[in-house]
Amino acid sequence: MTDCIIIGAGPGGSAAAYHLAKQGHSVQVLERASLPRSKACGGGVSPAIAAWFDFDFSPVIAARVDKVRFTWQGGDPVSAKLKTEPMWMVKRDRFDQFLLDKAQSAGATLQDNTEVTNLSFDGSTWQISTNQGTLNAPYIIVADGANGNCAKWLGFKERKVIPSGILNLEKPPENPDTAAFDFGSLKNGFIWCFPTGDGFSLNGALMTGKGKPQDLQKQLLNYAQNQGLEVDPSQYQPSQIVLWSDQPLHGQNAVLVGDSAGLADPLIAEGIRPAILSGVKAAEAIGQALAGQDNAIPQYTQMIKEAWGNDMGLAQKLAGLFYKFPKIGYKVGVKRPTAANIMSQILVGQLSYSDVTEEAIQVLKKSFLPGRG
Ligand SMILES: Cc1cc2nc3c(=O)[nH]c(=O)nc-3n(C[C@H](O)[C@H](O)[C@H](O)COP(=O)(O)OP(=O)(O)OC[C@H]3O[C@@H](n4cnc5c(N)ncnc54)[C@H](O)[C@@H]3O)c2cc1C
Repeated sequence: MTDCIIIGAGPGGSAAAYHLAKQGHSVQVLERASLPRSKACGGGVSPAIAAWFDFDFSPVIAARVDKVRFTWQGGDPVSAKLKTEPMWMVKRDRFDQFLLDKAQSAGATLQDNTEVTNLSFDGSTWQISTNQGTLNAPYIIVADGANGNCAKWLGFKERKVIPSGILNLEKPPENPDTAAFDFGSLKNGFIWCFPTGDGFSLNGALMTGKGKPQDLQKQLLNYAQNQGLEVDPSQYQPSQIVLWSDQPLHGQNAVLVGDSAGLADPLIAEGIRPAILSGVKAAEAIGQALAGQDNAIPQYTQMIKEAWGNDMGLAQKLAGLFYKFPKIGYKVGVKRPTAANIMSQILVGQLSYSDVTEEAIQVLKKSFLPGRG
């Protein structure tokens, strides 16, 4: 019997598959889509993920970004050159396939076009029902993303799912080395424009969870038009992101990773790095459980909380204030000369929210005082 079955071949599932296979365990990845599959995503990846692998990601880095530009409703810009390592920009079909290929080279097996339709546990073994038949394993890793059902079937509480969407534009970006963020054009959220080498994407997310998906689509298309971009509404792809909420991430012989665990940053919607981090930690926990360590699975929730969640709790606090008063937030938070570098240091893992949140909250709160906001 396979030691572990992983449901979903996104970055979370493939990172887990790679590390478990490297430990010498038998691993099978089940993926509903036909691979390589596309994924609605801006593709901005923190270079901090390099530390968790023993191979080079260069072949799938489509662009490296060393400048950021922030705007309020398309105007009042502020730009900065990053003093950190550049951010990576990837095309998700290529990036995800690359990571999966690495997992397969390490020994993991893959079955695509295989949709998991039900899960049941008899006390020692999981029965994984799929449209291709039933499989068994003592451990499962649920990595089925924002639209997956597995966490629900296992009885986990609803996650904080927010509407998001993307417009992919196949024309060379004006600033191929710049990641651009706009606040104020999208009510209850923000827009980010990321280059992808030969093209770029406009992404939007309703970070507060308020607002309808169709409002997001309308506002993102308006924004594109105001930027002088020719876009066809049919280019718009709706999707979802699952923001961090403090909940258990393990069940009996099962752990959740990535979007199915709900790990994305509540302030800036970064989801790839936590998906990969949780994949790495899931492999660690299941490896220990397979070696006979009783508390390895329950400890997974705590491991993720320590490595990521505590910081996301702070990001959540900051986001609560920022998205309530975004105009003030932009003026006193984003437009500060140091803001771009602080944000880039957080993204590359040189700083954590705990280093900056207290001060940022004080600055925001002060500016809400009568006569100052
Ligand atoms: C518009 C948009 C822009 C974004 N931009 C960024 C960004 O720039 N940077 C960033 O860090 N994050 C970004 N994100 C978030 C990021 O895309 C996700 O957090 C990340 O993809 C999560 O990875 P994952 O492995 O958990 O899930 P996914 O990448 O979603 O993979 C899950 C896989 O599971 C499969 N699956 C689902 N159900 C089943 C089933 N029943 N059986 C078998 N397989 C199944 C799916 O087909 C899929 O391949 C963005 C998200 C959106 C929507």
